[in-house]
Amino acid sequence: MSALAEATARPDGGNGSGWAAVELKSRPRAAAIEAPQDRTAALRAARESHKLEKRLLRMTGQAIADYSMIEGGDRVMVCVSGGKDSHSLLKLLMTLRGRAPVRFELVAVNLDQKQPGFPAEVLPAYLSGIGVPFRIETQDTYSVVRRLIPEGSTACSLCSRLRRGVLYRVARELGATKIALGHHRDDILATFFLNLFYGGRMKAMSPKLVSDDGRHVVIRPLAYVREVDLARFAQQCGFPIIPCDLCGSQENLQRKQMREMLDEWERRHPGRVQTIFNALGRVVPSHLMDSALFDFRGLRPDGVPDPAGDIAFD
Ligand code: SF4
Repeated sequence: MSALAEATARPDGGNGSGWAAVELKSRPRAAAIEAPQDRTAALRAARESHKLEKRLLRMTGQAIADYSMIEGGDRVMVCVSGGKDSHSLLKLLMTLRGRAPVRFELVAVNLDQKQPGFPAEVLPAYLSGIGVPFRIETQDTYSVVRRLIPEGSTACSLCSRLRRGVLYRVARELGATKIALGHHRDDILATFFLNLFYGGRMKAMSPKLVSDDGRHVVIRPLAYVREVDLARFAQQCGFPIIPCDLCGSQENLQRKQMREMLDEWERRHPGRVQTIFNALGRVVPSHLMDSALFDFRGLRPDGVPDPAGDIAFD
């Protein structure tokens, strides 16, 4: 395991000096409030916030470690749309960089797509304030989308494709070795079921992949993180959120249905969604039906008993 992996994988945020320093800095404090019951409530809230941040850091670090997402010397371009997920990603990576024993750089990138009403001054002010190097790339993909997709239809897939192309170019110009995106556990699961139900494929969203132009490594450090936790974290951090629907595009109906389905399952069977998510990392090709993943044709008895093996007739 790499040094970064060891540090980030430490489940309790425990012993390494980099981690301890962060713990001390972020110890919860209640605001100076006179009434004792207010003070108790404030302390409790501060403790909860602290616990949430610790959990998010642990899970992000674990995903980075499990998939070797970040190595020493990397320049990680963090795509910041202004939504809760990308804001959280940037903040968590900035904290992890401070405690990681390998050195890596971060550069935040926002694409101003010229949507009407996009508050162009918000992100530069915020990013300057938190002291992260950043670049705002302005490209009017909005007009292209509007020209090609009728008003009132879902434009997200074309919009994302155009955005991707611009971000790849910016990554090249910045010399970024990794591109970090803010997709989380529930995005991965919704994609899995979209592919299953509508595409007839068992395919989710990769935590780490080579981009479709073959030139970049794209990482998703929030792969283990629940959306609901990111929403709470964003609220507690007070990020300046910019909504993604300024363009007036209709939400992707199928993706929305997947999210509702997962929420409903979770309501009725708490823990089910996480169990399904865990299954994505515990695939048994011999018990599926893809001959490209398992050599069914060449299968022969080897005479060696396997206590964990299949019981053919149950
Ligand atoms: S909501 Fe609008 S800006 Fe966001 S991805 Fe869809 S089309 Fe693009």
